[in-house]
Amino acid sequence: MSTGGAVLAAEAEGPLFRQLGDGVVTLVVGEDKRTFTVHKKKLCEKIPHFKKMFNVPFQAGQTQSAKLPEDNPGAIESMLGWVYLDRIEVVRDEGGKGKHIDLTRYLNLYSLAEKYGCTKLADLTMDFIAKETLASNCMLSPLMMKLCYDLCSANSKLRLFAARCFAYCTLQLSDSTGNGTWSSEKIHNALWASIDLSKDYYGLLRSQSGKAPLDPRSAFACDYHQHAKTEMCPYNKKRKTPGE
Ligand SMILES: [Zn+2]
Repeated sequence: MSTGGAVLAAEAEGPLFRQLGDGVVTLVVGEDKRTFTVHKKKLCEKIPHFKKMFNVPFQAGQTQSAKLPEDNPGAIESMLGWVYLDRIEVVRDEGGKGKHIDLTRYLNLYSLAEKYGCTKLADLTMDFIAKETLASNCMLSPLMMKLCYDLCSANSKLRLFAARCFAYCTLQLSDSTGNGTWSSEKIHNALWASIDLSKDYYGLLRSQSGKAPLDPRSAFACDYHQHAKTEMCPYNKKRKTPGE
């Protein structure tokens, strides 16, 4: 495989530390005030929201430090990993010893991408969640699905994924699966706790009536991207419209 194009592109961008620049900013995140020091140029190039934040004559602009008390520190850590590496880093649960990815982190990462208007990060995070949960045969729990609804607004792709998973699990899993994770009582409780999840769930069930249930983790990737169905997928130029 030729890497000539990638090498030329990297040369055009110049040495890494010239790209990063000298300026740094500080993000103070969560209730525990975890602090991240980040190259300002890189952060502002990748996420324009921070360019506005750190280039105004208000507090963040003057101190070059921003307090983000409502954000999840693990999700910010993953967001910054993407800022520097241009990919989503794999972090497993149980302090890195678990078999499954730390799903809560990635659900929060998606919500951050939406909050800061970062389309590419949102799309890559959805690709990552679908791929990793399928590969490790892992499914969101009803509580996590409710979290997706709490974190994101209507029409969010994460909500779509969660609702599809909820409908799929209801039909495919028994009362005893996963120590009762998908018992009828827990399904009822989750629907009772989120009226939006409940509405989307019943809509999906009715639209799927009489059809074979499809695993939402192996759905067409563009279902969970921000671009319109008729637009070319920016990550795969062959995908013009679903099903092609
Ligand atoms: Zn796409």
